[in-house]
Amino acid sequence: MSAACIFCKIIKGDIPSFKLFESDKVFAFLDIQPLSRGHALVIPKYHGAKLTDIPDEDLQEILPVAKKIAQVTGAEDFNILQNNGRIAHQVVDHVHFHMIPKPNQTEGLGIEWPAQDTDMDKLKALFEELKSKI
Ligand code: 5GP
Ligand code: ZN
Repeated sequence: MSAACIFCKIIKGDIPSFKLFESDKVFAFLDIQPLSRGHALVIPKYHGAKLTDIPDEDLQEILPVAKKIAQVTGAEDFNILQNNGRIAHQVVDHVHFHMIPKPNQTEGLGIEWPAQDTDMDKLKALFEELKSKI
Protein backbone atom coordinates (compact mmCIF):
# COMPACT_ATOMS: atom_id res chain seq x y z
CA MET A 1 0.00 0.00 0.00
CA SER A 2 1.14 3.53 -0.76
CA ALA A 3 -0.43 6.33 1.29
CA ALA A 4 -0.32 8.74 -1.65
CA CYS A 5 -1.73 6.35 -4.26
CA ILE A 6 -5.28 6.99 -5.46
CA PHE A 7 -5.93 3.32 -6.30
CA CYS A 8 -4.62 2.18 -2.88
CA LYS A 9 -7.13 4.63 -1.38
CA ILE A 10 -9.88 3.09 -3.53
CA ILE A 11 -8.89 -0.42 -2.36
CA LYS A 12 -9.02 0.74 1.29
CA GLY A 13 -12.40 2.39 0.71
CA ASP A 14 -11.09 5.86 1.56
CA ILE A 15 -12.16 6.94 -1.94
CA PRO A 16 -15.47 5.48 -3.10
CA SER A 17 -15.73 3.39 -6.24
CA PHE A 18 -18.25 1.26 -8.10
CA LYS A 19 -16.67 -2.00 -6.97
CA LEU A 20 -17.42 -4.99 -9.19
CA PHE A 21 -15.21 -7.62 -7.55
CA GLU A 22 -12.84 -8.05 -4.64
CA SER A 23 -10.69 -10.93 -3.40
CA ASP A 24 -7.62 -11.00 -1.17
CA LYS A 25 -5.38 -10.17 -4.16
CA VAL A 26 -7.55 -8.35 -6.70
CA PHE A 27 -9.94 -5.39 -6.88
CA ALA A 28 -12.10 -4.37 -9.85
CA PHE A 29 -14.20 -1.26 -10.38
CA LEU A 30 -15.75 0.94 -13.05
CA ASP A 31 -13.49 3.54 -14.66
CA ILE A 32 -14.68 7.03 -13.68
CA GLN A 33 -14.07 8.44 -17.20
CA PRO A 34 -15.08 5.53 -19.38
CA LEU A 35 -14.18 5.21 -23.04
CA SER A 36 -17.32 3.13 -23.48
CA ARG A 37 -20.13 1.52 -21.46
CA GLY A 38 -18.64 -1.11 -19.14
CA HIS A 39 -15.06 0.26 -19.14
CA ALA A 40 -13.60 -1.23 -15.95
CA LEU A 41 -10.25 -1.49 -14.19
CA VAL A 42 -8.84 -4.65 -12.64
CA ILE A 43 -5.96 -4.05 -10.26
CA PRO A 44 -3.72 -6.08 -7.97
CA LYS A 45 -4.03 -5.03 -4.32
CA TYR A 46 -0.23 -5.12 -4.20
CA HIS A 47 1.00 -1.59 -4.90
CA GLY A 48 3.46 -1.19 -7.75
CA ALA A 49 3.69 1.24 -10.64
CA LYS A 50 4.60 -1.15 -13.46
CA LEU A 51 3.73 -4.73 -14.34
CA THR A 52 7.34 -5.71 -13.68
CA ASP A 53 6.99 -4.50 -10.05
CA ILE A 54 4.22 -6.97 -9.21
CA PRO A 55 4.91 -10.51 -7.88
CA ASP A 56 3.57 -13.30 -10.10
CA GLU A 57 1.13 -14.57 -7.46
CA ASP A 58 -0.55 -11.16 -7.33
CA LEU A 59 -1.21 -11.29 -11.08
CA GLN A 60 -2.78 -14.71 -11.37
CA GLU A 61 -6.41 -13.71 -10.89
CA ILE A 62 -6.29 -10.58 -13.02
CA LEU A 63 -7.19 -12.01 -16.42
CA PRO A 64 -9.96 -14.33 -15.16
CA VAL A 65 -11.56 -11.29 -13.46
CA ALA A 66 -11.18 -9.15 -16.59
CA LYS A 67 -12.72 -11.98 -18.60
CA LYS A 68 -15.68 -12.24 -16.22
CA ILE A 69 -16.31 -8.49 -16.38
CA ALA A 70 -16.13 -8.58 -20.18
CA GLN A 71 -18.73 -11.35 -20.12
CA VAL A 72 -21.15 -9.58 -17.78
CA THR A 73 -21.00 -6.35 -19.80
CA GLY A 74 -22.15 -8.34 -22.81
CA ALA A 75 -19.36 -6.83 -24.90
CA GLU A 76 -18.74 -8.78 -28.09
CA ASP A 77 -15.63 -6.78 -28.94
CA PHE A 78 -13.29 -5.35 -26.35
CA ASN A 79 -9.66 -4.53 -25.55
CA ILE A 80 -7.58 -5.42 -22.51
CA LEU A 81 -5.02 -2.65 -22.01
CA GLN A 82 -2.27 -2.18 -19.44
CA ASN A 83 -0.09 0.93 -19.73
CA ASN A 84 3.41 1.19 -18.24
CA GLY A 85 5.09 4.60 -18.05
CA ARG A 86 4.05 8.12 -19.06
CA ILE A 87 5.06 7.81 -22.70
CA ALA A 88 2.98 4.62 -22.82
CA HIS A 89 -0.07 6.58 -21.60
CA GLN A 90 0.08 5.60 -17.91
CA VAL A 91 -1.41 8.28 -15.67
CA VAL A 92 -2.04 6.40 -12.41
CA ASP A 93 1.09 4.73 -10.99
CA HIS A 94 -0.63 1.64 -9.59
CA VAL A 95 -0.78 -1.25 -12.06
CA HIS A 96 -4.20 -1.53 -13.66
CA PHE A 97 -5.69 -3.53 -16.49
CA HIS A 98 -8.38 -1.79 -18.50
CA MET A 99 -11.27 -3.83 -19.89
CA ILE A 100 -12.68 -1.56 -22.58
CA PRO A 101 -15.70 -2.63 -24.63
CA LYS A 102 -15.48 -1.62 -28.31
CA PRO A 103 -19.12 -1.22 -29.35
CA ASN A 104 -18.41 0.79 -32.51
CA GLN A 105 -15.72 2.75 -34.41
CA THR A 106 -15.96 5.88 -32.28
CA GLU A 107 -16.41 4.55 -28.71
CA GLY A 108 -13.89 2.45 -26.83
CA LEU A 109 -10.16 2.34 -27.46
CA GLY A 110 -8.65 3.97 -30.53
CA ILE A 111 -5.24 2.60 -31.45
CA GLU A 112 -2.38 3.82 -33.59
CA TRP A 113 -0.42 0.83 -34.85
CA PRO A 114 2.77 2.08 -36.52
CA ALA A 115 3.89 -1.27 -37.93
CA GLN A 116 7.48 -1.41 -39.17
CA ASP A 117 8.56 -3.30 -42.27
CA THR A 118 9.51 -6.94 -41.71
CA ASP A 119 13.28 -7.35 -41.35
CA MET A 120 14.11 -11.04 -40.85
CA ASP A 121 17.79 -10.43 -39.98
CA LYS A 122 16.88 -7.96 -37.27
CA LEU A 123 14.11 -10.21 -35.96
CA LYS A 124 16.45 -13.21 -35.83
CA ALA A 125 19.17 -11.29 -33.95
CA LEU A 126 16.63 -10.00 -31.45
CA PHE A 127 15.11 -13.45 -31.07
CA GLU A 128 18.52 -14.99 -30.28
CA GLU A 129 19.25 -12.27 -27.72
CA LEU A 130 15.91 -12.56 -25.92
CA LYS A 131 15.83 -16.34 -26.03
CA SER A 132 19.25 -16.52 -24.37
CA LYS A 133 17.95 -14.39 -21.46
CA ILE A 134 14.48 -15.79 -20.89
P1 5GP B 1 -4.02 5.04 -17.33
O1 5GP B 1 -3.94 6.12 -18.38
O2 5GP B 1 -3.11 5.32 -16.16
O3 5GP B 1 -3.81 3.68 -17.91
O4 5GP B 1 -5.51 5.04 -16.84
C1 5GP B 1 -5.94 5.52 -15.60
C2 5GP B 1 -7.44 5.36 -15.57
O5 5GP B 1 -7.89 5.53 -14.23
C3 5GP B 1 -8.20 6.37 -16.43
O6 5GP B 1 -9.01 5.66 -17.37
C4 5GP B 1 -9.03 7.15 -15.42
O7 5GP B 1 -10.32 7.49 -15.92
C5 5GP B 1 -9.12 6.20 -14.24
N1 5GP B 1 -9.23 6.89 -12.96
C6 5GP B 1 -8.41 7.87 -12.50
N2 5GP B 1 -8.80 8.27 -11.27
C7 5GP B 1 -9.88 7.51 -10.95
C8 5GP B 1 -10.74 7.45 -9.80
O8 5GP B 1 -10.59 8.18 -8.83
N3 5GP B 1 -11.75 6.54 -9.84
C9 5GP B 1 -11.94 5.70 -10.91
N4 5GP B 1 -12.97 4.83 -10.83
N5 5GP B 1 -11.17 5.73 -12.00
C10 5GP B 1 -10.15 6.63 -12.02
ZN1 ZN C 1 -1.35 1.94 -5.04
